[in-house]
Amino acid sequence: MRKYSKIIVIIASYAAFALTALNIALRIPAYTNVIMGCFAAAAAASAAILAFFIINFERERARKERENISRIMQSINAMAILWDADFRFVEVNSCLTNTIGYTSQDLSDIKTLKKVLPSDAFAPSLQAVVNNRDEEFYVTAKGGAKVCTIWNTSIVSVSSSRKRSRYLMLSIGLDLSESIRMKEDLIKYSKELAESETRYSLSMELSEIGLLLKASGSSSYYVSQQLRNMLGINSEYISDGVLRARFHPSDVMTFDALGGAMINCAVQDEESARAVHCTEFRLLSADNTYHWYQFRYKINPAETKLLADIGGAILDITQNKEKDSLIEKMAYIDDVTQIYNRNKFMQIGQETFECSRDSGITYWVIVLDIDNFHIINDTCGYTNGNKLLNEFGKVVQDSLTSGGFGARIGGDNFALLIRDSGDESLPVNIIRTIQDKFKTMCADNFSSQGMTCSAGYCKMSDGGGDFAKVLDHAEFSLSMSDGTKNDIIRYDNAVHDKIIKSAAIENELVKAIENNELVLYYQPKIHLGNGTLIGMEALIRWVRSDGTVVPPSEFIPVAESSLLITKISDFVLYEACRQNKTWQDMGLPPITVSINLTAVDFYQTDVKESIIKALDATGLDPQWLDVELTESLALKDIDHAIQQMQEIRDLGVKLSMDDFGTGYSSLSYIQVLPITLLKLDRSFIMYLEEDEISREIVSAVIRIAKSKKIETIAEGIETIGQADILKEAGCDHAQGYFYGKPMPKDKFEEFMQMKARESVPANS
Ligand code: C2E
Ligand code: MG
Ligand code: MG
Repeated sequence: MRKYSKIIVIIASYAAFALTALNIALRIPAYTNVIMGCFAAAAAASAAILAFFIINFERERARKERENISRIMQSINAMAILWDADFRFVEVNSCLTNTIGYTSQDLSDIKTLKKVLPSDAFAPSLQAVVNNRDEEFYVTAKGGAKVCTIWNTSIVSVSSSRKRSRYLMLSIGLDLSESIRMKEDLIKYSKELAESETRYSLSMELSEIGLLLKASGSSSYYVSQQLRNMLGINSEYISDGVLRARFHPSDVMTFDALGGAMINCAVQDEESARAVHCTEFRLLSADNTYHWYQFRYKINPAETKLLADIGGAILDITQNKEKDSLIEKMAYIDDVTQIYNRNKFMQIGQETFECSRDSGITYWVIVLDIDNFHIINDTCGYTNGNKLLNEFGKVVQDSLTSGGFGARIGGDNFALLIRDSGDESLPVNIIRTIQDKFKTMCADNFSSQGMTCSAGYCKMSDGGGDFAKVLDHAEFSLSMSDGTKNDIIRYDNAVHDKIIKSAAIENELVKAIENNELVLYYQPKIHLGNGTLIGMEALIRWVRSDGTVVPPSEFIPVAESSLLITKISDFVLYEACRQNKTWQDMGLPPITVSINLTAVDFYQTDVKESIIKALDATGLDPQWLDVELTESLALKDIDHAIQQMQEIRDLGVKLSMDDFGTGYSSLSYIQVLPITLLKLDRSFIMYLEEDEISREIVSAVIRIAKSKKIETIAEGIETIGQADILKEAGCDHAQGYFYGKPMPKDKFEEFMQMKARESVPANS
């Protein structure tokens, strides 16, 4: 009714105006026609003015409405197309042009629009619009990309007129690409999740990993299906008490420690919360026996109670444990004594060392050496030697105090780790007890009264950055023993000073090498039968700038530990070959030159290559070079040694076993080593004249060597008496002060010339 109110008012106004004009015209009959004419003219003029205003007003309203529609279209975050009532394109918004890449102008061309929209995109009828369907279809963007969209079209009026042509249609469309991608991703992820869940539970099942989680604030643990199978329980949750009862009595402490860790979890920092802990214990399992399990777990700090206070994976490691104990036995148990070996001693020692640093509890480290063990080996045989070691091992084990640890750490060396009780005399008391028991044991089992053992010891807290250093200190003290029987030496300042001195020597030695202060002395080797000169041993000397001569015993060990030895040995090898070749070229009778090599030369460098180089460089024939190796060197790694020695022999170079009888040796080794000469150590020769046993050992060694076609030489002969005994025993050659001390090359040259003159027949 409101719609028509303006028209009624206008008609009513016109009617009132007409009635008023008629009333006036009737009152003045003479002017009736004039008055009515004027009225008609006024009515027509006002109607025209009114119509003009109405039309303009309507246009303005339509324009504003169009503007409003445009503004709304541009502001919405959706694609929009405005059509006329015949579905002819009127306007598009920027969201649409941005999405499909065409401009509004492009789209005003019907051909372009047809490329963008599928032919049946919008039902070109008002009826369809009224039905208000959501149309879902792809629009084609510039360049051909398909964009999935959904559209809804509605009528928007721009005029109050009911004429059909005054309607506009507004289609609003949403780009579905993103949500479709999300939907596809969602499908993909859920598929992957399902797959990974399947994989996870399959791998849990196949790898037999169980899960044990302690829910936040709960007094029971969640037990995964796999773990339930492993333990033979049905319930998904197991209480603290029941789980604890399943622990092996010796491992209950571990369970309690887990509980302790949880209590402490409130104070954990984030880093330790992220850490994965690992522990091992035995649990009563489905087959009613205890199995070993490894539990790898994490503890969540109290603030972040995400999943559980404590939780992790649990794995049955029973089989590994069994293998481990076998491997441990093979790797850590000494064959001869059945007590732990050096590897285990180092491992336990390092653990104890670290523990000691944290706890403040200290330990003593004692190293023992059986004095002159080689005598038992050589006089009683290898089997008896092993028996003695075995018995000594028992003595060592018996001497251990609670928490102590004993091992055989090498040939005839044993070591002990003893907890410090605060009594400084404890290590000496233990060593004395061992020495006494050892003496008694030898008297009982080996009819030997005189067996003794010496010891070096130190306190773990007396210095050293790791356990290896501590053991070094104890071994170093032992090496300081001057051979006195039942010696006991503590690592102290004097020993420490010696180490410092070694470091100083090392520094000086570097300079000595650069300044050519190292020279070779030569000591003659004599044929015992006819007294001729058959060879010489090149012995190194360090002649300082002030003329003092440093013996090799002071710097060779230092050079060995600092690897300077390689330089020294290269020098010795070259210089000995060069000098020998020079003397041969001078016409002196050719003799062999012997050089000494150390374990470092032998095991850490290509010794064969060095020898080839020296022989090539000097032109010396290989038959005039002899390499002396000590037995302890050869026995370090016997297989490697045999191979290296054979390679040297293959060059035509001779090989001698130096200092024979001083180490952990047995004559049986001679049979497997490709040596040409056996050098009997000075310690056998020293007492030859007064000691019957020494004489017997020497004769036996010479006899056995002869049977193996190995020549013998005795070193350290100082008296004619010694020389005679050796000659009688069948020893081939001799070396010692009796024949000549080590001499500088000029002196030795004179010696050679003198020997050459001696050997010339008197009548020539
Ligand atoms: P070695 O190879 O057993 O050398 C024999 C040592 O015994 C030499 O000591 C020699 O002077 C000494 N000697 C020889 N006859 C007698 C004797 O009748 N009475 C006494 N009391 N001693 C005698 P030196 O020259 O002091 O050498 C000691 C050790 O140093 C050598 O023992 C050897 O192991 C090592 N050495 C010497 N020169 C070299 C070298 O150039 N390189 C290496 N790697 N080691 C060397
Ligand atoms: Mg030698
Ligand atoms: Mg020697």
